[in-house]
Amino acid sequence: MKITIIGAGPGGYEAAIMAAKLGAEVTVVEKNEVGGTCLNIGCIPTKALLASADVLTTSLEAEKFGVFNDHTTADLKQIVERKDKVVAGLVKGIEFLFESNRVNLVHGIGKLIDSKTVEVKRNDGGVETLVSDKILLATGSVPVCPEMFHYDGKKVITSTEALALKTPPKSMIIVGGGVIGCELGQFFSRMGTKVTIVEMADQILSTEDESVAKQLLRQFKREKIKVLTSNGVAEVEVQDSGVVVTLTDGKTLEAEMVLLSIGRASFSKGLNLEALGIKVDPQGHIEVDESLETSVKGIYAVGDLINTPFLAHVASKEGIIAAENMLGKNKTGVHKAIPRCVYTDPQVAAVGLTEKDVQKKGIPYKTGSFDFRALGKAKIIDKIQGQVKIIVDEKDVVIGASIVGPEATDLLAELTMAVHLGLTAEVLGDVIHPHPTLSEAIMEALHDVHGKSINKVSLRI
Ligand SMILES: Cc1cc2nc3c(=O)[nH]c(=O)nc-3n(C[C@H](O)[C@H](O)[C@H](O)COP(=O)(O)OP(=O)(O)OC[C@H]3O[C@@H](n4cnc5c(N)ncnc54)[C@H](O)[C@@H]3O)c2cc1C
Repeated sequence: MKITIIGAGPGGYEAAIMAAKLGAEVTVVEKNEVGGTCLNIGCIPTKALLASADVLTTSLEAEKFGVFNDHTTADLKQIVERKDKVVAGLVKGIEFLFESNRVNLVHGIGKLIDSKTVEVKRNDGGVETLVSDKILLATGSVPVCPEMFHYDGKKVITSTEALALKTPPKSMIIVGGGVIGCELGQFFSRMGTKVTIVEMADQILSTEDESVAKQLLRQFKREKIKVLTSNGVAEVEVQDSGVVVTLTDGKTLEAEMVLLSIGRASFSKGLNLEALGIKVDPQGHIEVDESLETSVKGIYAVGDLINTPFLAHVASKEGIIAAENMLGKNKTGVHKAIPRCVYTDPQVAAVGLTEKDVQKKGIPYKTGSFDFRALGKAKIIDKIQGQVKIIVDEKDVVIGASIVGPEATDLLAELTMAVHLGLTAEVLGDVIHPHPTLSEAIMEALHDVHGKSINKVSLRI
């Protein structure tokens, strides 16, 4: 079986390796470096920058631990160079995986000719025609930049340019208080930039519970990050000295730079979808069935290109499932429990339904919660902000959970498993959790669903 994959982001490259492991002859077409948005201009670089900001914050607070570090400063140029090294190492890692799994990599722009043929305009100037039995489209997404924002990549930028800035701007207006806006907002604030986040919804992280957003907002206020909610941008004027932004409530803001983080759109430009009759929804996502096959038999699509959450772990999972289905399996049910993570300080992580969701749907539910401030390990590491909250249905099955606090994104794995497998709070709460660890907060929150948390302070008079 011959398979051609267009795009080597997490969707495309994981599909390629899985298909090769299952015995297919695989060619991947990629116009840039392998790893896609995630590795080159997304997940990995943002988290590498945030890791430096974490070290800075820990150093500045070292005295609390009896450690003295008198001359703590940060140099964004060196932080960015470190980030670039992390990225370059991981890009090499994927290239090595391709070689060792005999995946053929062609650098160039791929275009569909028919349901079995891809034409590649190679980066070296040549043109190549690839004929295969099945094709996978995994060309990802690009930032949304409406004309009214006058995006120029210099004063009005997206996350892509923000990740490469070598000196922190004096001031920055961030349009959009979602995951990317919050992560980069806190990073630049910690580098010394005066940050203002403008968000249309009535809270930052608008899809998460109000309590989650409030806890992060409290930290942002402590760090003097200004957050303007229920407010949009009416006009943007780029001037020699900076950018003037007029808000929908009539107020104006000025800053050296504007960072647009208002969402991303599927990228299928140049793929020739119309000629083949591949169906696309009004928002530009390619339509797929449960097996991830498009409306044209033999052509599959995954990742940010389709209407599922734009997340790297969703793209990877879909890539693996599409590879298996292209090779004759019949896998569905990819999207049972999708973790949602925000790598701010404190971190935010959630899975399944929020309390807002269950209330809207009218599902009978109970909650359990536990604050990190009551936990030994949180006190040891001096990270006492935040809580774990669990939502169960009337059969005690965990249907949602959120964590705000230290290592929330790693801690979430256990609760993702609970939602995926349909475990009850009682069954999961029976598991012995090691002491002293942050995971004990999950155990206590699970016990709290039944009013049995030993360490939760409750006022019963
Ligand atoms: C700043 C930022 C931070 C993020 N952080 C996280 C995070 O922490 N966790 C998380 O889960 N997700 C995160 N994401 C989202 C994540 O990066 C994407 O969901 C993920 O990369 C999507 O994978 P994909 O394979 O669908 O597409 P992509 O990663 O976008 O890869 C698509 C690839 O296709 C190539 N391509 C496009 N058209 C063609 C063509 N015609 N021919 C050849 N090649 C082509 C592109 O060059 C690209 O390499 C972040 C995104 C951004 C922007």
